[in-house]
Amino acid sequence: METELLKIYDLEEQIHEMERAAALIKGGEVVAFPTETVYGLGADGLSESAVRKIFKAKGRPQDNPLILHVDSIQMLKRLVRDIPKDAYKCMERFWPGPLTMLFRKSDLVPDIITAGLQTVAIRMPSHPIALELIKRAGTPIAAPSANISGRPSPTRASHVVQDMKGKIAMIIDGGETGVGLESTVLDLTEKVPMVLRPGGVTLEDLRDLLPEVVIDPGLGDRKEFTPKSPGQKYRHYAPKAEMILFSGDKERVVAAIMERARREGAQGKRVGLLVTEENRNRYPGENVVVMGSVRDKRTIAHGLFHAIRRLDELEIDIILCESVEEDQIGMAIMNRLLKAAGGNRINL
Ligand code: AMP
Ligand code: MG
Repeated sequence: METELLKIYDLEEQIHEMERAAALIKGGEVVAFPTETVYGLGADGLSESAVRKIFKAKGRPQDNPLILHVDSIQMLKRLVRDIPKDAYKCMERFWPGPLTMLFRKSDLVPDIITAGLQTVAIRMPSHPIALELIKRAGTPIAAPSANISGRPSPTRASHVVQDMKGKIAMIIDGGETGVGLESTVLDLTEKVPMVLRPGGVTLEDLRDLLPEVVIDPGLGDRKEFTPKSPGQKYRHYAPKAEMILFSGDKERVVAAIMERARREGAQGKRVGLLVTEENRNRYPGENVVVMGSVRDKRTIAHGLFHAIRRLDELEIDIILCESVEEDQIGMAIMNRLLKAAGGNRINL
């Protein structure tokens, strides 16, 4: 399939060009578009045959449900049985934005969206291109990240081109995404509100509004819990190379990474380092990629997936990676790093 590329420099000036993208969505085709989190792979969320094309393009397991993206509360109301009070509070504070909430689904939502579950995940994105596309298509848009399943999520149109060219009808290029990590997934359908996936809205932000929020115990290193969000059980965001995450005392981490790099190098392996700006100059060698600065961890969130894709391009055999503190957006960053490393972590 020929993939059309639509570059949006100035949405207001090019607003009529969005009509073509919306027509493709209405016609049951798949269109990749920027959101404030990562690029999404969009299709008409009420059409089973359109949504099937998303799963096919990504190679996504059928038991991993999708998020529906809406442009208004009016659109949300058609998709859910009820809206809990806490959900209204969260919408007021965080929508449009990187917070996805689970609701009890209405009959309008096809089973393929929810993988047969009785709950549906919904968010209202804040990116103007995403909102315009939903509004013009006049339908909720199902949109997982626009990467091949298991690969790092795309934060630039060039990443989407790498993974999706020839497989989908159109890619809208709206430049780099803002947050750089996926939305926070919050379950408000049970007694205690629970974060199923840490993301763009932090736990601290949520607790400010709902002090009783807990984290899904399945999200940590502990193997005895299975996460409630089906997507969390898969290896994800992963580079082609093996990856090891180093945590704990900062000085020991630097020393341990250098020692391990020396050992792996001596065995003829190509070693890549994924590090913070502050420590960049402490590591010798060429394949040192900076993910961002610990002084503002949002820069790490923003740059992380691009950094992992760059290491792939360098054809590295093994990636040694620094950790960050798990407060604020650091929780989402560490969740993605741990998954990218397939749980491979050394605590120092
Ligand atoms: P992605 O589409 O790649 O951003 O992933 C969406 C995430 O939301 C995955 O981790 C899904 O498992 C999760 N999700 C979507 N719908 C539900 C649901 N009804 N219940 C629990 N988790 C969900
Ligand atoms: Mg994804």
